[in-house]
Amino acid sequence: MISVEEALDRILALVATLEAEDRAIDDVLGQVLAGDVVSHLTIPPLANTAMDGYAVRAADTRGASTERPVPLRVIGELAAGYIFGDAVGDGEAVRIMTGAPIPPGADAIVPFEETNEDRRGVPSGSQRLESTVSIFKEAQPHANVRDAGEDIREGETVLRKGKAIGPADVGVLASLGLASVSVVRRPVVSILSTGDELLKPGDPHQPGRIYDSNAWGLSALVKSYGGIPRRLGIATDSVEQVTAALRGGLDADMLVTSAGVSRGDYDVVKEVLAREGDIDFWTVRMKPGKPLAFGSITSGGRRIPHLGLPGNPVSAMVTFELFGRPAIQKMMGKPLTPRPTVEATTQDAITTVGDPRRFYARCIAEQVDGRWRVRLAGGQGSGVLSSMARANALAIVPEGKEVVEAGETVRVMLLDTERPI
Ligand code: AMP
Ligand code: MG
Repeated sequence: MISVEEALDRILALVATLEAEDRAIDDVLGQVLAGDVVSHLTIPPLANTAMDGYAVRAADTRGASTERPVPLRVIGELAAGYIFGDAVGDGEAVRIMTGAPIPPGADAIVPFEETNEDRRGVPSGSQRLESTVSIFKEAQPHANVRDAGEDIREGETVLRKGKAIGPADVGVLASLGLASVSVVRRPVVSILSTGDELLKPGDPHQPGRIYDSNAWGLSALVKSYGGIPRRLGIATDSVEQVTAALRGGLDADMLVTSAGVSRGDYDVVKEVLAREGDIDFWTVRMKPGKPLAFGSITSGGRRIPHLGLPGNPVSAMVTFELFGRPAIQKMMGKPLTPRPTVEATTQDAITTVGDPRRFYARCIAEQVDGRWRVRLAGGQGSGVLSSMARANALAIVPEGKEVVEAGETVRVMLLDTERPI
């Protein structure tokens, strides 16, 4: 049996970062940029106003106050998206809306609040006007002017290769006028459930049978890590069926099976993996999840990593969290970011008496007055999936330690602190 760390090292050694592809920008959230994004634009393209008001020559407003307003001749008005062709001369002003380019000759914007303007109509486009406005306050040169290129300059590297795209990055890509971008491809993960007892959700229930939960929980994990799950369905406990089903999923980037890897008579996945590919290891010193087979199947010159997860639903999810998540991160070109861990006081005793393996206990972690505390999320049997659903964290009882008493401190891996418990 190998340690969790060694198992992860061996898995990552067999997993490679995928190639780049062009994708529409509304579909790249969380993917990694495959190249630098260099701007071919200056943004904003022209100096423009940050406020609705009047474009003026600052010098003309000198000495203006509520008591002694300065009158200016309004020669036109201008909305965002249009250009005012004429220059603003001495004693003149242009009524202007946020985002509209500063007309030539003007060097400051006086907001409506500092004028006698009370009608707040929005001009349509750019037109000439003949009226007057009273300025109540002196404007400093450059007041409320946003410079051309204040955001992005032409030729600038705006986003760097290797960055995981966040919502603001999507906005920046759109601001550059880009409809698509080159990103590291998302991995396709084939998922196969094995077991004579399994039924597909939606099928009528039958005595003695259970519904396949692994394929669905694992699909959801794959999606949450950024991968694309492809369910291959259910294979019975027969070498022929498992082989045929797995062969149908070999165009994926990773194969994931559940069940059929422990020492029982019907543990066919290990047998298939031994026949069709190479087994690297098949037990890890952890609970839940000891029977975890890992290897690869070579097809069409490609070596496809295969994670043979345990059948018990909690074991399948916990092992995929620990090993599948970093594998998907690496395939997506992301830095390997482990889940955050915190020290927490446990309110319940956590026991694994007689079992020296490292224990990942499903628990509920919460921060009270700045300190973390945890309690068990329910029964800790490997088949008790409902307590996994209640949990937002895993308390890690180190190898060799069999009891963490209530009131003691334990290290806790936070899985999802945003989700309400
Ligand atoms: P096995 O690894 O085949 O010995 O399975 C261990 C336990 O997990 C058994 O109780 C199985 O019924 C259960 N199990 C296996 N596969 C699934 C699955 N896809 N969904 C839910 N439970 C499963
Ligand atoms: Mg079985």
